[in-house]
Amino acid sequence: MAEQRKERKRIKSTERKFTLRMQKKLVVLFFLVLSAFVGLSIKLFYIGKDNGKEYEKQVLSQQQYDSTTLPFKRGDILDRNGTVLATSERVYNLIVDSKLVLDKEEYLQPTVNALRSCFPDIDQTELNRYLNENKEKDKNQRAQYKIFLRQLTYEEIEPFLDLEEDPKKGANIKGVWFEKEYKRYYPNGSLASDVIGFITEDNKGTFGLEEYYNDILNGTTGREYGYLNDDSILERTVKPAVDGYTAVSTLDANVQSIAEKYLNKFMEEYRDNAREGLGANNLGCIVMEVDTGNVLAMASAPGFDLNDPKDISALYTPEEIAAMEADGTVYDAYNQLWRNYCISDTYEPGSTMKPFTVASALDCGAITGNEVYMCNGKREIGGWPIACHNTYGDGEITVKQAVEKSCNVALMYIAEAEGKNNFCAYQRNFNFGLKTNIDLAGEARTVGLLYTEDNMGPTELATNSFGQSFNVTMIQMITGFCSLINGGNYYEPHMVSRIISQDGSTVQTIEPRVLKQTISPSVSDTIVDYCNGVVTEGTGVTARPAGYAIGGKTGTAETLPRGNDEYVVSFMGYAPADDPQIAIYVVVDRPNVADQDDAKFATKLVRSILTEALPYLGIFMTEEVTEKEQEELDALQLENTNHYRQQAVSGNDIPTEEAGEGGAEGTGEEGGDGGTGTGGAGDGEEDTEGASRGEIWKTFEKDPETGNYIDPDTGHQIDPETGHDLEAGSLIGPQAGVAGGGVQPDTKDPR
Ligand SMILES: [Zn+2]
Repeated sequence: MAEQRKERKRIKSTERKFTLRMQKKLVVLFFLVLSAFVGLSIKLFYIGKDNGKEYEKQVLSQQQYDSTTLPFKRGDILDRNGTVLATSERVYNLIVDSKLVLDKEEYLQPTVNALRSCFPDIDQTELNRYLNENKEKDKNQRAQYKIFLRQLTYEEIEPFLDLEEDPKKGANIKGVWFEKEYKRYYPNGSLASDVIGFITEDNKGTFGLEEYYNDILNGTTGREYGYLNDDSILERTVKPAVDGYTAVSTLDANVQSIAEKYLNKFMEEYRDNAREGLGANNLGCIVMEVDTGNVLAMASAPGFDLNDPKDISALYTPEEIAAMEADGTVYDAYNQLWRNYCISDTYEPGSTMKPFTVASALDCGAITGNEVYMCNGKREIGGWPIACHNTYGDGEITVKQAVEKSCNVALMYIAEAEGKNNFCAYQRNFNFGLKTNIDLAGEARTVGLLYTEDNMGPTELATNSFGQSFNVTMIQMITGFCSLINGGNYYEPHMVSRIISQDGSTVQTIEPRVLKQTISPSVSDTIVDYCNGVVTEGTGVTARPAGYAIGGKTGTAETLPRGNDEYVVSFMGYAPADDPQIAIYVVVDRPNVADQDDAKFATKLVRSILTEALPYLGIFMTEEVTEKEQEELDALQLENTNHYRQQAVSGNDIPTEEAGEGGAEGTGEEGGDGGTGTGGAGDGEEDTEGASRGEIWKTFEKDPETGNYIDPDTGHQIDPETGHDLEAGSLIGPQAGVAGGGVQPDTKDPR
């Protein structure tokens, strides 16, 4: 007990003793620290004043760009197999900060020289003016942000960046930096131009899918904030940009390119034929899946280069363009070129309407299909003779023959039996007069272009029965036609089947949607039978591709005013004949020929397109091919049919796989570059498009072997410069999936 007390006392006295000694030491320490601070301050002052340019540049530039926005990457538009139809590429704007360039005399010349040598396109007069002007100003008044070149690629700025980093040559290059943004790029040029549309500089879609899906394709702009904290240290917070979603279209780039090839061929073949100009005023082609409403191809000619939509030099002479620019009509010319004929233009359908009239009469029980009519070449209605297409008369004619031979007189009898109330009700049921609501911008309103029960007289009913006196759009016709031949299911026509995020996960799937039943399945079977007869017996024989049985209906309609000998001719068909899967509709608006009244201009186009498209779509030949047909097929050589799929698949082989057989080259140092020239198709230098969110990947760990960053979420290799996910799984379409690689931008194919 006593000892314990003693011990405690001893400790206490020791503590006190130490405290006294410490006080002295503390005073010393205090002065030491104080002098250290003074020294540091002097040092800082020294740095700041004399050679702290790097530091200053950093602070200044951060102040400059701090409250700046971070651009998002607008989502891609892909075809059904993953072929890139529209994408956004990272580009750079060249900014000159005059305050930094002019900060020291010795920076000016090296910087200007470097700009000149690396960027020959830079406006040197403007650069000199900018620098001279700011030189006159007070240091703090000097401009720090002026764009001198826009949308440079990384390859274009790389030489400058290298020079700037060179310890010797780059030491005095100051005040140049590169602002990142994205540029819309269409790898296939004019392919599906009317359908895809393009964007304005502020990421606003104009026409087509770009406009309709604008909000989905666009992401959210990010922001980089910077502020000085209490200790005057620059703090930065980054709210990263959120990239837009990608739209996977129902389009098939191969079918699309086949259709466009023949439309363009037609335009050239008949150019300057009966009149000056292209082979027709307009040409349109839609290829649709009968049982889904998915559009495989939608083409109209002339098209335009999506990467340069205002280039109209192929259609007008420089003089004409100058004149149009002068009087402002050039925008009418643009609009005419950019609009999508297949959905935006209306016309009288002509005889392609006949299967609709017959179907509605059968469906409502007005006729049985066993009727026989008498055609003398015309029929008088309301005091006016209305002519048959065959002015000599078809004689006795059955309902089936009326469709096959396209007899107007029989159709007038059929519509009369049906009555205007039924006729008009079925027109609405087939969606005429209404928008189809296809997911494209620019669909025409047709509500005022039809007669109703209230204003339809006997004459109008008669002419309507064979497709005159009312207007439709191509998309209305083919969508309604699909319901005629698929058992009566009216599908909403569609261009986009899936929305995916940048990492490839599905955000939304758009399933085929049946909107209504137009006719009964048995009537549908009858219509297929009739339309098959059109191609075997009737007016559509020239539409049949060698080796196939197809069905369809021809159409010719004289444009207004009547008697001008100007026609819209068309063919609407399907294949195979016994089980329609693919529907096709081709419209030739005023072919450039002396005698326009001939559906063959359309049937031959259909034949050419189907000859290439059907084998590609996996629809097999069922009919014998004659020797002559075989010769024609051989001559065609169908070399381009699989063009886009080959591109996409060969690209998919490359990015991630180490070139296994490339041992001779030594182990690859940089990912797939190791084995040069392996396997014919090997050309792995292209980037895959993938996830990129601001520059967030630069916070990831680096793979010491490849130099790429590694995404902690996916384990994928990330391109250190572009932020592209080099292993982005495509998840798009079975072909891409099988190949197991990413979706490849089709930049190799300048079309
Ligand atoms: Zn007739």
